[in-house]
Amino acid sequence: MSELLKLFGIDLGTTYSCIAYVDETGRPVIVNNSEGTPTTPSVVYFESAQNIVVGQVAKDTAEIEPQKTVQFVKRQIGKVKEVYKLGEKPISPEEVSSHILKKVAQDAEKELGAPVKDVVITCPAYFGDEERNSTKDAGILAGFNVLAIINEPTAAALSYGATLGGAEKVLLVLDLGGGTFDVTILKVGKSIETVCTGGDYNLGGKDWDDSIIRYLKDEFSNQTGCTDDITENLETLQSLRASAEKAKIQLSGKETTTITVQHDGTRARVELSREKFNTLTANLLSQVISLTDDVIRQAQEKGISKFDEIILVGGSCRMPQVMEAVKSKYGMDPKLQDPDAAVAKGAALYAVMKKKGEIDSAPPSESKEPIPSLPPIRYGNGDQLPTITDVTSKTFGVEAVDKQKKPFISNLIMRDTSIPTEVSRTYGTVDPNQPSVSIKIYEHASYDSEMALPKDAESLVIGQTELTLPPNLPAGAPIKITFKLNENGILEIFALDLTGNRSVTATIERKSSLTKAQLDEIKERNKGIMVT
Ligand code: AMP
Repeated sequence: MSELLKLFGIDLGTTYSCIAYVDETGRPVIVNNSEGTPTTPSVVYFESAQNIVVGQVAKDTAEIEPQKTVQFVKRQIGKVKEVYKLGEKPISPEEVSSHILKKVAQDAEKELGAPVKDVVITCPAYFGDEERNSTKDAGILAGFNVLAIINEPTAAALSYGATLGGAEKVLLVLDLGGGTFDVTILKVGKSIETVCTGGDYNLGGKDWDDSIIRYLKDEFSNQTGCTDDITENLETLQSLRASAEKAKIQLSGKETTTITVQHDGTRARVELSREKFNTLTANLLSQVISLTDDVIRQAQEKGISKFDEIILVGGSCRMPQVMEAVKSKYGMDPKLQDPDAAVAKGAALYAVMKKKGEIDSAPPSESKEPIPSLPPIRYGNGDQLPTITDVTSKTFGVEAVDKQKKPFISNLIMRDTSIPTEVSRTYGTVDPNQPSVSIKIYEHASYDSEMALPKDAESLVIGQTELTLPPNLPAGAPIKITFKLNENGILEIFALDLTGNRSVTATIERKSSLTKAQLDEIKERNKGIMVT
């Protein structure tokens, strides 16, 4: 019998990351990092061109050398091309994320004595096409075979569903992490079906920390008479950030805490009570509740009018204010479900499911290589694995023109549609003998099937392609456009010139995911680099 293959799930978080694998008994297990903790700060310190430090040491160093550290990179992945400059070299969010992935993988390799190769990486449910591609690219740069990108709430539901003994339940999952908030309604049982999803990727523990930082700044100036904005000093800001997070965490367990603020040789001691903290952050908590209400409303429109349980995941759900607000609003005791680990554990279970699917569907091999044995997965009360259906959190459309030749967005795949999905629609060319059609693809969060071009339309374009047409087509010649969204949320576009049944296929140009050549170049450049 071949050796048991270890398959991994990585929760690549905004503030902390975590890795899990499935052991020989079918249980997902978190692997501690080399510092002995289950989660690793997603902070990267570029000590030198050859030495990159990730994790707690980087987070501590951020106070002393903030200009050499990168934090919260997940908020920028898929959106910008550069988050740091190493000498003259621009460093992308994908590359920074790959260092975080490498660090958690290296530590797990050391602990388990097995290579980390096949992985599933998680992302928020509302990540769009580019963010997903970029997350996958980060995994490729880290040297992984990325089996899949799975939505964080689906992963959490998978690890929770494994404990349910086969019962069918509708879950409301709130995932409030360090930088993102995901709210999802899922049906869990023999299958895991996402009903609808929402959230905000600019809402997380960091914002609660920021509220404390603002308070500390004001208190410092009240106590010392200092009129400077002390947060403009990078070192002071980093130190305030660390103290604010520490104070916030302490306030989850006790009623008051004291914070020392130091700036330019002057210090102040600031008392902060949980009550005051709750007041300072009340607006953030209202956003959590209002985003949750939006998703509940969407679920009602899809015929799901009640849920059986509320599951809280993500480190920030440890704040008592979250528990209390959810309980008082929805009249049900929420369950704090393995908040730091549930997502990575679910991803590890999914890695086994994916690999099993790959092996089962591979053509019979002539090779003498033994087929790797996979760990068993226990799910519910049997070993029947659930089927997983996700929904897209985004709407995808193309630009079309109306009779007055005024452009609008015609949406093909609507938000909250189950994936994989494929939708085709036929459009007509505008002019006779038109040499080509330009296909501009939009991704956004609207539920409307047709919409006027919004002001920020250009920022919603995720790709554009040109379909060359044969000569002498009349105006109105039919062009069939097909959008295909796979279970990883990645979109492919096909365009077909229906006249005379000739077909033309077009591939979408990605705006920000890296090309193979770019990936190879970064891999080559990083060959000699140590990540510790
Ligand atoms: P995650 O991304 O799920 O690891 O969540 C990380 C966030 O949870 C960070 O903003 C942490 O400061 C926050 N966090 C972790 N533990 C606690 C706690 N006990 N109380 C409040 N916030 C916490």
